[in-house]
Amino acid sequence: LNELWRRADKLKTVGQLAAGVAHEIRNPLTTLKGFLQILSKDSDNQDYFNIMKEELLRIESITSEFLVLSQPQAVQLEKKAVVPLLLRMKKLLKYEARLMEMSIELHFEEHMPSIYCDEQRLTQVFINVVKNAMEAMQKRGIVSIQCKTVDHKVLIRFIDHGCGIAADRLKHLGEPFYSTKEKGTGLGLMMSYKIVQEHNGEILIHSEVDNGTTVDIYLPAYSPVMDA
Ligand code: ADP
Ligand code: MG
Repeated sequence: LNELWRRADKLKTVGQLAAGVAHEIRNPLTTLKGFLQILSKDSDNQDYFNIMKEELLRIESITSEFLVLSQPQAVQLEKKAVVPLLLRMKKLLKYEARLMEMSIELHFEEHMPSIYCDEQRLTQVFINVVKNAMEAMQKRGIVSIQCKTVDHKVLIRFIDHGCGIAADRLKHLGEPFYSTKEKGTGLGLMMSYKIVQEHNGEILIHSEVDNGTTVDIYLPAYSPVMDA
């Protein structure tokens, strides 16, 4: 229980910090990106510019994860068809996947029920999970997404055959800043747990070192009582 309290406390502190910092960083960042783009056009130092752009993107991804964590307003739940939502998400990741030489496969049952969700935030969760899967694999890996119904719930399963996660590390997933990556933020899963919780859903992660990871996201299937 103590551990749970500590975790909740940490979450709150991170959230408060996030609210302040992320908003302040956003605008100057946009300005910097714009001028960097202009300057890089007639410069011989493309290598330096590329590094600067990469680093700016990194700051941007950290601040956007912070922003999600600190969002004060509750999720806006709406009835949505799950398969089109996954297809749109897949499209958003097309460029990144190509860059990393990965492919994303989507398999789904016919007649999937709808879900009650905040599409934008749920998409952020899916993107984060797929990115983690891609980052865990060598080139030419496949992220397989399976979508089916289990006991009035929609199960969205993400499978990769990447490096996997050791048992003693599994319990740290979702802790703020827990990352094993050189360039990781360690905020993605924390954000994902929070958002899925707000959907009355659940995330379960199974993993085996060197064999890969399966991330199961369960969401309640839509029923008209949810509109009440
Ligand atoms: P980040 O991706 O910035 O490191 P996340 O919160 O998204 O932060 O993930 C936290 C950690 O969980 C990762 O650094 C990695 O060690 C582990 N992880 C998450 N998903 C996977 C996966 N599919 N395969 C292997 N490790 C994973
Ligand atoms: Mg991540």
